[in-house]
Amino acid sequence: MKKTMLTGVRPSGNLTLGNYLGAIKNFVDRQEQYNSYIFVADLHAITGYIEPQKVKESVKNSIAIYLACGINPKVTTIFKQSDVLEHGTLGFIMTFQTKMGELSRMTQFKCKSNQQTKEGVDTGLFVYPTLMVADILLYNTAIVPVGKDQQQHVELTRDLAERFNKRYGKTFEMPDVYVAPVGNKILNLQNPLEKMNKSDNGDNKGTIFLLDDIEVAKKKIMSAKTDSYNNVHFDEDNQPGISNLMSILSKITDESFESIEKRYKNKGYGEFKKEVAQVVAELLLDIQSKYKTYNDEIILDKILKEGAMQATNIAKQTLSRATKALGLN
Ligand code: AMP
Repeated sequence: MKKTMLTGVRPSGNLTLGNYLGAIKNFVDRQEQYNSYIFVADLHAITGYIEPQKVKESVKNSIAIYLACGINPKVTTIFKQSDVLEHGTLGFIMTFQTKMGELSRMTQFKCKSNQQTKEGVDTGLFVYPTLMVADILLYNTAIVPVGKDQQQHVELTRDLAERFNKRYGKTFEMPDVYVAPVGNKILNLQNPLEKMNKSDNGDNKGTIFLLDDIEVAKKKIMSAKTDSYNNVHFDEDNQPGISNLMSILSKITDESFESIEKRYKNKGYGEFKKEVAQVVAELLLDIQSKYKTYNDEIILDKILKEGAMQATNIAKQTLSRATKALGLN
């Protein structure tokens, strides 16, 4: 029997090059080796306020992008999180297994709650990791490919699975996280001290979206912030901008940092950026041409319907094990 791999992406805006390189590409490369599940994390999209119409539109858009990125519905179950009601129920149960301190220590919570002090911090931001715990445990997941920012949440999942199993008897499988060595944290092109995010302080110059106009995307790379060393060298602490561009190039082409450094020895940043821009443009062109084919209501509805059925089937069994273990049925 194949082991299970699962990952999810929030539909809270267009997917980014960071989503692709940090999570989706790693999933696509391994989908045949596993019993694979990918979901549109629409419940996670509403942990803070987001226009309902935006969530609705982004769901199908996300599925079409998954397909365009190479996710194969013949080998991977693709579904929408809110179609499988068990996510909410197990999420609720897992919240009760969690200490306040564990959630307060989550880096994402600490960073984002600092930005929310004016109006008060959303509890969604505080408890969403326990929903992630449920997302993972429901499918007996063995491996979760994610970007570096989500590693801590998979570690929390392991802690809670272990705690639950100890208290109530073996109920959940232990998941492992897979964070790829290259491209696990793609940085904002204008501020390479921050992660590349879907929302980018309004002007979006630091974020490449997978559906960006090709010339716009190239311009974003060409105007990426670098440094004054003028040396194409991988050094995340002192040259974060150049190192970020090297990660993007290396992750897309599989070329090692050493080889890139060698090729660009004594050459300027302009020439290097041109190559990165070209490689990114080719990647986006490929994704965008496939996206047009897959962005079809009938295809997407069929995938979502089948995915919801398959996912519900497994999720129901796991939830039933958990509720039985708790003495609830
Ligand atoms: P999100 O968009 O926050 O739902 O993230 C979906 C997946 O993409 C998660 O596995 C993240 O870790 C990954 N991800 C998001 N942004 C980046 C980034 N800038 N670099 C690498 N991985 C990322």
